[in-house]
Amino acid sequence: MRMLKEGFMTRLRATDRPTVSVEFFPPKTSEDGASMLATAKSLQPYGIDFASITYGAGGTDRSTVLEYGKKLVEVGFPIIAHLTCVGHSRAELTEIIQKYDAAGFAGILALRGDPPKGQKEFTAHPEGFTHALELVKLIREVRPQRFAIGVAGFPERHPSSPDDLSDIRHLAGKVAAGSDFVTTQLFLDNDDYFRFVARARAAGVKVPILPGIMPVLSLKQARRFCGFCQAKIPDALVRELEACGEDEEAQRRVGVSWAVRQIRGLLGRGVPGYHVYILNRSQSAIELFSQLRRA
Ligand SMILES: Cc1cc2nc3c(=O)[nH]c(=O)nc-3n(C[C@H](O)[C@H](O)[C@H](O)COP(=O)(O)OP(=O)(O)OC[C@H]3O[C@@H](n4cnc5c(N)ncnc54)[C@H](O)[C@@H]3O)c2cc1C
Repeated sequence: MRMLKEGFMTRLRATDRPTVSVEFFPPKTSEDGASMLATAKSLQPYGIDFASITYGAGGTDRSTVLEYGKKLVEVGFPIIAHLTCVGHSRAELTEIIQKYDAAGFAGILALRGDPPKGQKEFTAHPEGFTHALELVKLIREVRPQRFAIGVAGFPERHPSSPDDLSDIRHLAGKVAAGSDFVTTQLFLDNDDYFRFVARARAAGVKVPILPGIMPVLSLKQARRFCGFCQAKIPDALVRELEACGEDEEAQRRVGVSWAVRQIRGLLGRGVPGYHVYILNRSQSAIELFSQLRRA
């Protein structure tokens, strides 16, 4: 199925049911690739509207975005491919945008990107960009109406933003430059999302804001991920995970159950849809979508 900008935006704006998306990361080996595609196929019965595929800070994961993005299109998922400014000149980014067009991707999530491993600060390529805003503008320039463009939003604000006001001002700037939707960083407390949406609306951001949900796998993994993106882990979730002791399978089930409760809470308050960070794993994702189907 080839769903380009218009079809994608119609789905996103429709109010008959929430828009559901899942996120894959590009596999590093052919075995991982086969497993990722098996996960994608196993999710098809759950009515997923689109899949996104991340863009790494460098290495093989970058070169396989196109390869696996195309395979996901063949499986039947409209694709939102991520693209970051890390290490790329404007000319290279232009070429990638053209390749995403030829690959039949429905949209692009335009990101600045994180500094590559071992580097603390983001450093722009000498002929590249400092902020995602410039990438949004480039996509609109290279292929004006071809892609649905998404940008990142941070319910607990971006770690390098000095305050909520400047954080939301920059988000509003990315939207004013032509972004069609926002996908959020993971959060584990829905109140953080609703406060963020209220700030965004007050700053004039009118596009859909898709909440990003990650079913945690264990307390250790949650601490690592949340430490990296500076997201809080609610005390209640820590207690539930700690109560499982060393039983990692029990911790994984707690993670799924927390994510299900989060999504139900979000849907109950009328969110346009939700985005699940499935980390290429089928088990938690299938359990999550099956549980959500039950009343
Ligand atoms: C949904 C989602 C998906 C992601 N996918 C990937 C991925 O595939 N690959 C990857 O490497 N990373 C990914 N990331 C991580 C992301 O690249 C990092 O969080 C990065 O540090 C910020 O990216 P951004 O696009 O928000 O940057 P920007 O919008 O450029 O913002 C970065 C910082 O600069 C500030 N800022 C923005 N514009 C301006 C301006 N004009 N002047 C001054 N300050 C400004 C912002 O407030 C913020 O503090 C993802 C994040 C999210 C939420």
